[in-house]
Amino acid sequence: MQFKGIRAALIDMDGVLYDSMKYHTLAWQRMMAEYGVECDRDEFYLYEGMTGAATIDLIFERELGRKASDEEKREMYRRKTELFNELGRKELMPGAQEMIATLRRAGIRTVLVTGSGQGSLLGRLDEDYPGAFPADRRVTAHDVTHGKPDPEPYLRGLEKAGTSPEETIVIENAPLGVRAGVASGCRTLAVTTGSIPREAFEAENPAAIFPSMEALRDEFARELNVLRDAVERLGEEGQVFIITDSNVERLALPRLAAEWPEVMSLPRMAVEPGEENKNIASMTRIWEFMAESGATRHALLVNIGGGMVTDMGGFAAATFKRGVRCVNVPTTLLGAVDAATGGKTGVDLGSYKNEVGAFHSPEKVIIDCRLFGTLPHEELLSGFGEMLKTGLIADPELYSRLLEGAPMLADPTRLEPEVMRCVEIKREITQADPTEKGIRKALNFGHTVGHAMESLCLEKGTPVPHGIAVAHGILVALILSHLILGMDSAHIYRYRDMLRTLFPRIGVSCADVPRLLVLMGHDKKNSRAGRPNFTLLRAPGEAVIDCNPSAQDIRDALDIYFTEL
Ligand code: CA
Repeated sequence: MQFKGIRAALIDMDGVLYDSMKYHTLAWQRMMAEYGVECDRDEFYLYEGMTGAATIDLIFERELGRKASDEEKREMYRRKTELFNELGRKELMPGAQEMIATLRRAGIRTVLVTGSGQGSLLGRLDEDYPGAFPADRRVTAHDVTHGKPDPEPYLRGLEKAGTSPEETIVIENAPLGVRAGVASGCRTLAVTTGSIPREAFEAENPAAIFPSMEALRDEFARELNVLRDAVERLGEEGQVFIITDSNVERLALPRLAAEWPEVMSLPRMAVEPGEENKNIASMTRIWEFMAESGATRHALLVNIGGGMVTDMGGFAAATFKRGVRCVNVPTTLLGAVDAATGGKTGVDLGSYKNEVGAFHSPEKVIIDCRLFGTLPHEELLSGFGEMLKTGLIADPELYSRLLEGAPMLADPTRLEPEVMRCVEIKREITQADPTEKGIRKALNFGHTVGHAMESLCLEKGTPVPHGIAVAHGILVALILSHLILGMDSAHIYRYRDMLRTLFPRIGVSCADVPRLLVLMGHDKKNSRAGRPNFTLLRAPGEAVIDCNPSAQDIRDALDIYFTEL
């Protein structure tokens, strides 16, 4: 089944996101029994999607020959909700989280459309499906006059999605829900997660029927492959080349191949991993590989790896035949939020980092946080440090979410919405200032001190990952922001508490202050010789570039940093 042109998905909740129908049907049966009406539990599967009031009327008319009064409906539905909540923990539908993540990775907007008004499940959505269903992308029982099978809930969903029916799919597990989806004009996918026979769905004419959520998840993973789509759109027959390193080739390529086997048969060049190989000798091997493979100026390079690979593959793309296009697939969190976006490419020259290079933006950056699941914890923290920086300079709300970051670091797939937001911010800033004349300098927030700490730790033989040094440099920059720009000191304390909890200490002490000042003076991003250039903050989201604090200010800030940490 093809999903070309699909921009939004309207998604039912009970029986789709949560395996909750077994508890709903039991709660209905027990509540009715308390009112002296014996019902077959399975019949409630068939009423799924109708509002509670409509279900009560249906049974009253059948058993008692009259409609229920408003008072009866209210009281019976209240009791049913109480029984449902007593039945304990609500389970996630197996496969549903990955199904949602695949849709979001493909850029498809997700909107919740449920007949339920139950606070107990709605309240859990943010935790179980982070970022997928913000408050303005939910249609619940409280938002509609007519419940399913009337199309109204899905028509409201289309409004919230801002898409036409032709661009929208509906995911439903109940026949009445499928009827509502079909009536709204959307391409409606039925998933049989309950005990309803397939025939009951066929009668409603869905576009397709899937036997389980896992089956739908697998279909999406096959059909909504953003890497394959990018290669098909941008690449020409025989002109797509993969640049990677031998570690990534072993660890990450099989992961990509699981959903797109053809990736393995594209011609590829794997350089030796590690920063020490980010040099002109490796570069020459890449140029030779491309020349010998018959690459023309229409070639597309797909750079799959960490910052070292995307920097070198990007430089190859900038230079080969005077420039070809590239796509970056970062396999580290740091690479995703830092090197892969923005168009800085290059190689080291001896001990000089990124001494030879060019600005060359990728056509597309493809983020798949599942690739980060095997990274060492320190590597994740390194990327997280750059994310904190991005939030601080450009998006206070993102920054607040990151301050509660511990659960995200335990499972990097939970970071996906925040990683996407960081990439978006970096893209906006670098597009506004591609060659770093102005606002792009804001991205250096925390880096003046961070780079000095990174260099010092390397000198001492106790190297720290880049983003961890930056996370420490940010605290010094926040202190300077308070001293010089009057930023509220509460931000210093919040950040310090997070730093203490999530990040390791690094091997610098107050005895190192003189050396740190020297290293800051050597930083190549200085605007005035010997006087370090800082980006500081008036408040989170309000960056001020080109600040030149005095050596005494920097010494004071470092003293406070060492005292506070
Ligand atoms: Ca449902």
